[in-house]
This record gives sequence, C-alpha cells and structure tokens, in this order.
Amino acid sequence: MAEASPAAADMVDSSLEERLQAFREVLPPTTRLLAVSKGHPADLVRQAAALGQRSFGESRLQEAVAKQEALADLPDLDWHFIGRLQANKARAVLRRFDTIHSVDSLELVRRLQRIAAEEGLAPGILLQVKFRPDPAKTGFDPAEIRALGPDLESLQPLRCLGLMTIAPLGLTPEARLELFRECRALADALGLHDCSMGMSGDWRDAVAAGSTWVRLGRVLFGSRPIQA
Ligand SMILES: *Cc1c(COP(=O)(O)O)cnc(C)c1O
Repeated sequence: MAEASPAAADMVDSSLEERLQAFREVLPPTTRLLAVSKGHPADLVRQAAALGQRSFGESRLQEAVAKQEALADLPDLDWHFIGRLQANKARAVLRRFDTIHSVDSLELVRRLQRIAAEEGLAPGILLQVKFRPDPAKTGFDPAEIRALGPDLESLQPLRCLGLMTIAPLGLTPEARLELFRECRALADALGLHDCSMGMSGDWRDAVAAGSTWVRLGRVLFGSRPIQA
C-alpha cells in the first residue's frame, strides 16, 4: 500500500494526520472510526488511507463508485454505505460495499437477502432505528426491532451486526445521551455487538453510551466541498 501511493503520502495534509491521530488516542479500543468521505474527493481518501485509515463511509452510490474506481489501486479499503438506500440501488450497493449501516425497513432486508444470495455475497448490515420522531429520517421503530428479535439470527446470507441510529437535531446533550443509551441497551438485549452512532456534533455522547462505530465527516475532513 505504501508503495502504491507515494505521491499521496507526500501530499498528506498534516492537520488530517493530527486529527486522525487525535481520534485514535481519544476513542476507546471498542469504538472504531468510520471516516465519512462523502462530499470529499478521492484524493482525500487516499491521503487518509496513507495514514492508516481503512474504513470509509459514503452515502451516495454514484459518488462512491467514482471514488472507488479512482482508488482501485488500494485494494484493502473497507467501504460502508450509510445513506438512504433506494430499492433500485440495492444490487449495486451490495456489489460495492462491505457493510450497510442504513437498512431501514423489513422490505429492504428481504430484498438485500434475495440479491445477496443471488450474488453470492454475505454483507454485514446494521438496522437503522428511529428512537424519536424525526420526519427527516427513516428507520425501524424500536418495537419492530424487538419483535424481530429471534429472526435477527436468521437473515442469511446477511450478517446482522447491530443497530445504527442518528440523533435528531435539537436534542439537549442529556436527551442525546439517553437516546444513545437506549440504542446500546436494545442492541445488548438482542445480543448484537455493533452500535453505529455518533457524528461530528455528538460523537462524545455516543462513545460514552457504547458506540462501536462513530461516523465522522466534518471533524475529520472539514466542510464538504462537493454538494449532494
Ligand atoms: C454525513 C453523515 C455522517 C457524517 O456527518 P458529519 O456531521 O460530517 O460528521 C454520519 N452519518 C451519516 C448517516 C451521514 O449521512
């Protein structure tokens, strides 16, 4: 990998290096860093990869595919899909991503199962849960997830790794912490390891509540130059 990208290594932005290093120091060993590269060019992903970052999050298929093609010489990147997943993009997302954090309905679960089986894939998935009313977001109701309980073991060929949640805007820090704790408690009750929670504005609370994946964009890469 080092040989594959000497130019990128030379051009590494020292502040990106410092920020990555700072997160490595501050995150507990049980919390992994998903570097959210949406809105940023492939070159920035290359720089982060040269600094040892492996897992990247993208939320738009077309943008992600262009980046993955530009970075095809870096075979060991771990791509996570974190955006709203339209049914007609399911096959392409399955082919392109190792893990999907934003599985937000049973209908989508069934479709992903069918297509993954056809494609011979066994992707990791996280079920997106909506713990508070939020018209801006989709997701399962916590009661729906509880009812699924035993079935979560048998979503083959999908591997259900855990839950994902996004805190609505405007919560107090206390209310946010409580929401993240609910997510952790629900995952624990179902025997699921992962909780993907925490973004640039609320990752500390998410980590305190037991996040296993923080999804960080702006605090790592700065504001996004590429518009949706
Ligand atoms: C964009 C995005 C992030 C990262 O957001 P930042 O505020 O830039 O850290 C995390 N999760 C999801 C689902 C996103 O769409």
